[in-house]
Amino acid sequence: MIVILKHNPNRDQLESLISWLQEKGIIIHTSVGEAHTILGLVGDTSKLDIDLIAALDIVDDVKRVQEPYKNANRKFHPEDTVIQVGNTQIGGGTLTIMAGPCSVESEDQVVAIAKAVKASGATMLRGGAFKPRTSPYSFQGLGPVGLEYLKAARAETGLPIVTELMDLSQLPLFKDVDVIQIGARNMQNFDLLKAVGHQDKPVMIKRGMSATYEEWLMSAEYVMAGGNENVILCERGIRTFESYTRNTLDLAAIPVLRKLTHLPIIIDPSHATGKSWLVEPLAMGAVATGADGLQIEVHNDPAHALCDGPQSLKPEVFDPLAKKLLKLHEMLKTLEG
Ligand code: PEP
Ligand code: MN
Repeated sequence: MIVILKHNPNRDQLESLISWLQEKGIIIHTSVGEAHTILGLVGDTSKLDIDLIAALDIVDDVKRVQEPYKNANRKFHPEDTVIQVGNTQIGGGTLTIMAGPCSVESEDQVVAIAKAVKASGATMLRGGAFKPRTSPYSFQGLGPVGLEYLKAARAETGLPIVTELMDLSQLPLFKDVDVIQIGARNMQNFDLLKAVGHQDKPVMIKRGMSATYEEWLMSAEYVMAGGNENVILCERGIRTFESYTRNTLDLAAIPVLRKLTHLPIIIDPSHATGKSWLVEPLAMGAVATGADGLQIEVHNDPAHALCDGPQSLKPEVFDPLAKKLLKLHEMLKTLEG
């Protein structure tokens, strides 16, 4: 349920409404917008008398929210969420470019890539230390030492780091990363979602390969229900009957999610296509469709990469692409006035 308050509501009346609701076990999220303040009520609202609340002097309107996700719902929080990561912001009209290797392979590799992508305009460094691989015989990532190499690359470049958490037991090692990534394969690992909801680092949830928007938003809801509102959504392609590409990029996710949620939306054209030559057109399409950012795999030697070489861009290919993306983003802003 949402309660839309009149402009400048009387403080005492507002406090008594809030404490009355809290006594009924309702959790209240307040969203202060330019025109209106909205109270988002979470909990068992079925017994609340909607007419009684609507009749209060300070209340403009009351609406039931049908969707099962509440905190993630734009109706609860009409303004876009903007997430501060280091000295960069995700959302709110910025274009975040997360770039880096699929897996961290060595300190030299990740530092060199971090320097190159930063020079091209990337705002965050990606790289996996713990890798979810389809085969147990494939490279599984460097583990804790990979996280240390990412931190070394951050110290050299100042780029905040985003890296995947695969298992609850790894969480203590993630205290010093900037954004925790929950991979597609773990989108519905509810224990993991609850755990990252109980800490305060931003969490980027990649869409499960067969997840609906609602299932994906419910995963965000798990994190937010724990108290962590810094959630980012990343579309990385879904499974369809098409086998030419690794997955099928769902660009409609951008306008649909924009309508349903206030959370920032990132597009990953690398895992979506599996082919380096498809990264540029789809990244451009994502910016044109209004994405808040991109996650792109970049490797100094894709032919010898330990993971996902065929979809990785060389730094010299990423460089003009990053510049084009930033330029397109600026051009679109001028069109929107
Ligand atoms: C990744 O970003 O390294 C990754 C494994 O992505 P996804 O979970 O989208 O497959
Ligand atoms: Mn990868």
